[in-house]
Parts: sequence; structure tokens; C-alpha cells
Amino acid sequence: MSLEGGVSTPSKAIDALRRLVRERPTDFDTRLDLAELLVTDKLTDEASLVLREALALKPDNAEALRMYAGLCYERNSLEEARDRLETAARVGPADPKSDLLLSRVYLGLGDKHRAQAFYQLALNQDPDLEDKSLSASIGLAESAKRVRIKPAGDEHALDYESSPTGISFKDVGGMEDVKEQLRMNIILPLKNPTLFREYGKRIGGGILMYGPPGCGKTYISRALAGEIDAAFYAVGIHEILDAFLGSSEKNMHNLFETARRNAPAVIFLDEIDALGQKRESGSWGRALRGTVDTLLIEMDGLGKPDKPILVIGATNTPWAVDLALRRPGRFDRVIFVPPPDQGAREEILKLHLRGKPIEDVDAAGIASKIDRFSGADIQAMIDRATEEVIKRAMRSGKTEPITTRSLLETAKKMRPSTTEWLATATDYIRYSNQGGFYDQVKSYLDKNQ
Ligand code: ATP
Repeated sequence: MSLEGGVSTPSKAIDALRRLVRERPTDFDTRLDLAELLVTDKLTDEASLVLREALALKPDNAEALRMYAGLCYERNSLEEARDRLETAARVGPADPKSDLLLSRVYLGLGDKHRAQAFYQLALNQDPDLEDKSLSASIGLAESAKRVRIKPAGDEHALDYESSPTGISFKDVGGMEDVKEQLRMNIILPLKNPTLFREYGKRIGGGILMYGPPGCGKTYISRALAGEIDAAFYAVGIHEILDAFLGSSEKNMHNLFETARRNAPAVIFLDEIDALGQKRESGSWGRALRGTVDTLLIEMDGLGKPDKPILVIGATNTPWAVDLALRRPGRFDRVIFVPPPDQGAREEILKLHLRGKPIEDVDAAGIASKIDRFSGADIQAMIDRATEEVIKRAMRSGKTEPITTRSLLETAKKMRPSTTEWLATATDYIRYSNQGGFYDQVKSYLDKNQ
């Protein structure tokens, strides 16, 4: 950076830039330079202010967004850090350090799944970023479910979860509408192929599942694989994407190849919206385009009738999904996975309390007080309440049960994680319902508001 007046020490440089910023209210670059020095000098409050001004001038500047996200992370504003980093990833060039930060942010937000995906994405681009303690905290070290699949003669390998799922619809609390749609669209056609073909119905193929985070898209898909005795492969798009030329396509192809060898199979592609990100150029842009092309080619040649492969694309941001992916023959069947209703919350509570020491737990009463909690929220509530009860048991020296009171006390300290998503979806319904795409959400909101 060249500064006017031959300024050399940081504080003088800062003063000079402060002056410039005051003189030039619409100068973005100077604000960014100033913010950088302020961050280095740990003047974080002022740096935040300057960056907010810079972002008011250029809301989509990736560098400013990322710098600001770092400050948000430091002051524990994790949701804001996440939003800024996600925006930067959409509009800017790939940046492994930001992906690493996003991994930490998601860990802080309790979403280990995404924390793992972004950690792996960061390492794919820059192996020097390895962080053993982060990797242990997000559970990568001891992840027993994931296997490394490395086709012969191929130097690229990709980890996917690949396990007999061990769960079926009876392990999914409530969500009857979703189960019914899956029965009609997937299970019955697979079991009665001739009948369904006579009515012109397709077997296998692609489904788009969307909804707020933690409401069971992955879990229900795993249970669906269990219902039809299929192998289950779950992978986040961020894990498939690789900055090295050609590797993303190869990753995608290997995934389908493995599924074909083990069909019937369900391939669960999480964060399918990541394929819709508009990246103008560079290796990342090529990786995205190549991956979408490979996915479409693989989907076009899907499954022999006796060895079907079902592809489920999942997203929390359906509005960001590439429209090309929703054309007929691709992810053309769309299922909304809503927040659990009263009955579902009650059942999820009972399912997750199974085998734990409980006393007089009024599942219906609790369910009525945790409106808008996702399945993952309910699970987290039970985990936290259990920890409290264990602490108490250690103090008293005798077994302490989990009670309605301990669960409700924990719930009071939590915020339902679906509220923000529902507010965003409401805006989309109002302003761009894409020919009825969000009708299922609308009908959910009409019933539940
Ligand atoms: P994300 O969008 O964040 O990836 P998701 O919609 O895929 O989330 P899951 O990971 O499937 O959500 O759900 C989180 C956890 O919540 C599950 O592992 C499961 O334990 C629990 N859960 C969610 N819904 C249900 C349900 N209907 N019955 C029982 N458990 C549930």
C-alpha cells in the first residue's frame, strides 16, 4: 500500500487513512485499506464501523465481506459471520481460508455436518490449512461411518457416508405428508414397476428436498433407503467440488459408479444449491460447470429398472438452486420437508428419549411449548438437558431422571432454528413463487400461523 506523505509507522498510516476516508465519503478502497490496518492493530470496533461503511458502498465485495465476517466471528456473532461468508462465497473467488473460517462458524452454530464439509473444502484447496484440533472437534477424526472410496488407478478419492442405514420410516417421528409422498413417488413404483409404467410413471430418478435446516432431510432420506433396502451414499456438494481441474467431475462420476455397483442405491447430495452459485471465472467456475454437466449426464443414464438409483438433492435455499437442475427428468419432483408439527415434535421427543432415564415426561405438553423447533433442535434440547441431569447426578451421587421441567428449562434457553428460514420463504412466496414452486410451504404456513 502506498501512502501519501511518506508515512511509515502503522498509527501514522492509520491517521492518514482516517483523514482520507473523511475527505472522500464514497471511496471504497481507502476504507478497505484502513480497515485492514485497524484489524492488524486490533482496533476492532473501529474496523467494524469502517467495514460496514465500505459494505454500504459495495455490498457484494468479497474481500470486505470476509474481513467483516472475521470480526463477527471474534465477537461471537456467528450467524452474521455465516451470512457474510456465504455471500462472499457466492460472489467472490474461492478462498480456502474463508472456508476454514466457515467451518469454525458452523461448528459454533452446532452444525457439524457443514463444519466438516467446509473443513474438507478448505483442505482440498490448501492442505497446509490442516488443523488437528478443529478436525477433532467436528468429529472427522473419529468418523466411523465414512469410508474412503478410491477407484483403482485413480489418484483422487472422496469420502462419503456409505452404510446400511439401519433406520426406516418407523424411526422418523411424524412427517406423515413427506412419508406419503415418498411412498407414492418412490416406494410403490419400485415395488410395482409394471403397474406404474402402465400409467406412464417413472421409476427412480431425481427428487429435490428442501426446507429449513435440521428438519430431517438427511434423516428421512436415510430412512427411505432403509425402507427399500438400498445402499445409501450421502455427500455434500462442497466435498465433491475440488479446485483442481477435472477432479470435481471425477468425484461426481466415482460416486455414481460406486452407487451403480451397489444398486439399488440412494445418492443423497446435500447443499445442491452450491452448484447454482454464479462464479464468473477461474478454476472454481470450471469446477462448478463441469460438476453440473457430469451430474446431468449421470442422471440421464440412470438405473436399469431392476437396479434403480435414486438421487436426492437437498437444500435449505431452494431459491438458489440452478433452474437447469429442475427440468423434467432431473430433480423434477419436489418435496418440502417442513418443521415438525405438534404430533411430530411429540414423537421425535419420545424417539430421542428412548433408553434414557426419564420420569413423568409430558411429551405432548413439552411439544406444545416448542413450536418451530426443528428435529435437530429437539435433539439438542434433550442432549443439553441430559448433560445437566448428569452433572446433578454426579453432585448428588444418585441417578437423576430427565423430567418435563428439566427439558422445558433447557428449551427456554434456546431459539427455534426454523423461524428465520420461514420468514425468508414467506418473502419468496410473496414476491416470486415461481409458478407455484413454494405452494407446499404456503399451505404449511396457512395451517401453522
Ligand atoms: P440440514 O439442512 O442442516 O442438513 P437436515 O434437514 O438434513 O438438516 P437432519 O440432519 O436430517 O436435518 O436432521 C438432524 C437430526 O434431527 C437428525 O439426525 C435426527 O436425529 C433429528 N430428526 C430430524 N427430524 C426427525 C424426525 N422426524 N424424527 C426423528 N428425528 C429427527
